Amino acid sequence: MVAEKNNIKRAILYLVIPCYNEEEVLHETARRLVGKMKTLQGDDKISNQSKIVFVNDGSKDSTWAIIKELHEKEQMILGINLSRNRGHQNALLAGLMTVKEYADAVVSLDADLQDDINAIDEMIERYYEGNSIVYGVRGARKTDTFFKRFTAESFYRVMDFLGADIVFNHADYRLMDKKALDGLEQFKEVNLFLRGIVPMIGFKSDKVYYERRERFAGESKYPLKKMLSFAFDGITSLSVKPIRMISMLGILIFGVSVIALLYLLVGSLLGATQPGWPSLIVSIWALGGLQLLAIGVVGEYIGKIYLETKGRPRFIIEDFLK
Ligand code: UDP
Ligand code: MG
Repeated sequence: MVAEKNNIKRAILYLVIPCYNEEEVLHETARRLVGKMKTLQGDDKISNQSKIVFVNDGSKDSTWAIIKELHEKEQMILGINLSRNRGHQNALLAGLMTVKEYADAVVSLDADLQDDINAIDEMIERYYEGNSIVYGVRGARKTDTFFKRFTAESFYRVMDFLGADIVFNHADYRLMDKKALDGLEQFKEVNLFLRGIVPMIGFKSDKVYYERRERFAGESKYPLKKMLSFAFDGITSLSVKPIRMISMLGILIFGVSVIALLYLLVGSLLGATQPGWPSLIVSIWALGGLQLLAIGVVGEYIGKIYLETKGRPRFIIEDFLK
């Protein structure tokens, strides 16, 4: 049995967890994850060199202190400290890019463990079946508030309508192997929207389904404002359709105004004098509004180009506890 064990090469699995002001959940999260990893190791599903990596995304509370403490107590736990808050996506990328040289496969998940960690077992199985990417997909959102569920699901629908290739109800709970992570590294964009980019990497992939739970402590680090800006960034970094839609609208309004103009012209030639005021005001407002909207959308893309051309680093690592 022992000999057989040594013959099979088990994957080195790394878990990457971005953390922003998560002091309330970290101890419990670490306890549950260490338990999970030990079980997986005990069942000989993953290598004993597997690790859990917490990425501190410039938290203002004691998150980093807790990570350091956990690292000292448990050799399986590692920590990465970013120089400042860069947002969930960049923190996750920092973790993935740092651990990719040590791991065979990496599972990313949130610090609040809303995503059922038991799905990791199935992700690993899919990985052994030859998949490079395994997406965790929420089967149900029963415990999310109506508002969260509605906004989140609308987001996926809008993305789909705009032609962005994203997996419905999949967030950033996924397994990626070394090959997929090397692929991801080649995407140099600064406006990072991982769940839009990962499907572009290609390779064989699969999905596993799980139920999303409530946060067991602390509150969401995605208030409405961050959620909206995340959705907006997601849409504009993946799709140029909004620009095209604005152009189409411009053409449509232009067409309508030409017809209206003809109508008014014929009317005044026939002597049916129009008071003129309403049509004037209406067209000023309609065109003014449309133009502002169009400039805004174009500006949004130019802003993106501006940021991309600077090629600023997406994250800076201050410490790596390994
Ligand atoms: N997060 C982060 N940086 C941020 C905001 C959030 O690293 O600026 C992390 C957070 O600690 C958590 C994950 O991103 O691990 C998802 O956040 P949260 O659970 O608050 O989002 P929700 O589940 O409410 O969408
Ligand atoms: Mg959460």
